[in-house]
Amino acid sequence: MNNSKNRWSKIDSLINDSNNILLSTHINPDGDGLGSQLALTNYLKKKNKNYKIFNPSLVPNDLSYLNDNEKFNQYTQSIHEKEIKNFDLAIILDIGDFHRLGDLANELLNSEIKIISIDHHPHKKENYFDEFIHDTSVSSTGYLIYEFLNFKNELDVESGNGLYLAIMTDTGSFSYSNTDSRTHSMASHLIELGVDVNDIHKKVYQSVPYEKLKLMGEVLQNINFNLNGKLAWFIIDQDILKSSNSNIEHLGGFTDTIRSIKGVEVAIMLHEYSKYKTRINFRSKGNVKIHKLAQRFGGGGHPFASGAMINQSIKIVREAVVSATVSEINKQIYGKDVI
Ligand code: AMP
Repeated sequence: MNNSKNRWSKIDSLINDSNNILLSTHINPDGDGLGSQLALTNYLKKKNKNYKIFNPSLVPNDLSYLNDNEKFNQYTQSIHEKEIKNFDLAIILDIGDFHRLGDLANELLNSEIKIISIDHHPHKKENYFDEFIHDTSVSSTGYLIYEFLNFKNELDVESGNGLYLAIMTDTGSFSYSNTDSRTHSMASHLIELGVDVNDIHKKVYQSVPYEKLKLMGEVLQNINFNLNGKLAWFIIDQDILKSSNSNIEHLGGFTDTIRSIKGVEVAIMLHEYSKYKTRINFRSKGNVKIHKLAQRFGGGGHPFASGAMINQSIKIVREAVVSATVSEINKQIYGKDVI
């Protein structure tokens, strides 16, 4: 652990020297960001630090059990602006693009609050932060928090519950290409500490709201295919959400499911976030890297899982994204520049 001692010692000092600590993660948070928060708050509690979680969004429906153990507050600028000034340190987790913090991003940049970023996404700019660990070689942000708590000798079953959720969800239950021996060693260690793997799995994957499955049914009826089935894409607009009585929190995992269809190399979800805002979700099976494509649309992410938010109507975005993805698949699979 000599290496990680150097790697974590500055962050450790910053936490030691702070008393009021803010934690945040990205908009539409996932198990990695929220599980990492849970593990860190458990540590901060033991160190008698004042802390508060302020996220740009609420905990999504499929992870709502997390609300039983911790308070995940949603940040609203008009209400919380003043309160933010009381913090002396912000730890932001799992954020590859600082602006995925929403309003909180500018709020922090215009303050005296020190900022730590801990993340496993590729980063364009790192100079927003007073300290950071950005490591794209690890499966998840949860792995990094595990490394920190292990270095501090502060792992226990409570932090382990958050960390297990983080790696389980970010590796697709230990199946994606980001799964490596470190991921399994970590899981093994957490089980030794008493983490109940089956309990977490049941809470996350065996508690699907019926509305979500109804919506999935509609999506399955309306998938669009290009390039002989290599590209599959689907639309989630306001009408389909309304007719299935579901909402944005039910969309987690949809693109992964569509990617799982035999022959599909890339799957895309086009989600009408609002009239002039469209969210894109890209997933690849591994033969086509899609993160640069996401970057072209102002987003980012990993080679095989990325996304973007575009300030245009879904109609306009759909054409641009589908044709750019078709070109990209042609280029990467067949070495062709045009369709
Ligand atoms: P998602 O498809 O929302 O699960 O996101 C997959 C990955 O893409 C995330 O881990 C993020 O790194 C990245 N990502 C998604 N949306 C954006 C965005 N608007 N800007 C930058 N990166 C994004």
